[in-house]
Amino acid sequence: MELIRDWREMQKFTCGDPHGFVPTMGYLHEGHLSLVRTARYECKTVSASIFVNPSQFGPTEDLAQYPRDLERDLTLLEDEGCDIVFHPSPESMYPQGYHTWVKVEDLSEELCGNTRPGHFQGVTTIVMKLLNIMRPERMYMGEKDFQQTVVLKRMIGDLNLPVELIVCPTVREEDGLAMSSRNSYLDADDRKRALGLYHMLLMAQSLYRQGIRSGSEIRETILPLFQEYRIRPDYLSLVDPQTLKPVRDVDDDTRVVIAGWVNLTRLIDNIRLGG
Ligand code: AMP
Repeated sequence: MELIRDWREMQKFTCGDPHGFVPTMGYLHEGHLSLVRTARYECKTVSASIFVNPSQFGPTEDLAQYPRDLERDLTLLEDEGCDIVFHPSPESMYPQGYHTWVKVEDLSEELCGNTRPGHFQGVTTIVMKLLNIMRPERMYMGEKDFQQTVVLKRMIGDLNLPVELIVCPTVREEDGLAMSSRNSYLDADDRKRALGLYHMLLMAQSLYRQGIRSGSEIRETILPLFQEYRIRPDYLSLVDPQTLKPVRDVDDDTRVVIAGWVNLTRLIDNIRLGG
């Protein structure tokens, strides 16, 4: 007989062949597909969801314009060997009288949570609902949405959810722009300017390599690039990867997180300072 004290160990004991789940809002690109590929490699069953979740959009945000192409998405998922796709209607996920929310305090209020109040409550609630429906042992998400992975890891830990979150690297365009469904909003001029976000992250890494260890010095050296690239700043911060709070003395694990508006499009990106 075995005595297990660790809840993660206990859950592993009770689960069978792994089922890997990739939640998405659709309009798929290589970033999404890299998650499906990793899940396919590691799991017996692979599922994905396509759901533009209304509860994570603020009242003035791009819910209505968010790009959608179900047919194309289904073909791409099929080509990657995805076994099941869940594509519910908003009415079925949030029927009249819906009143239940999952909220991760503190972490949800930092960074994107500051400018997008309620966003992470929408994310944690929909992910909780999707996990209850799909019942995967593993969930695959992108490092591109770094804060999202930190918030969800906290939710999974705090609520003892029987799922392991696997965070996969950010997939970039050839010039370095992080792939995003929202890149489809950018015209040619916006597209050039958008690259500024990545250049700012690279500059942070380069300053760090030159030996600068003060978070505020790195931040202040980079800040003027917002103006150079004509990006309206939302935030630029060098944060602890667990608490998401700014760090005074940076190290390899420090995350440089950035968000800004290129014209009408809000883009985010991040990088580990030590590469
Ligand atoms: P979304 O459809 O934007 O909600 O994203 C669905 C999943 O794909 C999330 O886990 C994202 O972090 C991930 N993802 C989006 N863009 C990228 C990217 N460029 N590289 C890796 N993963 C990504």
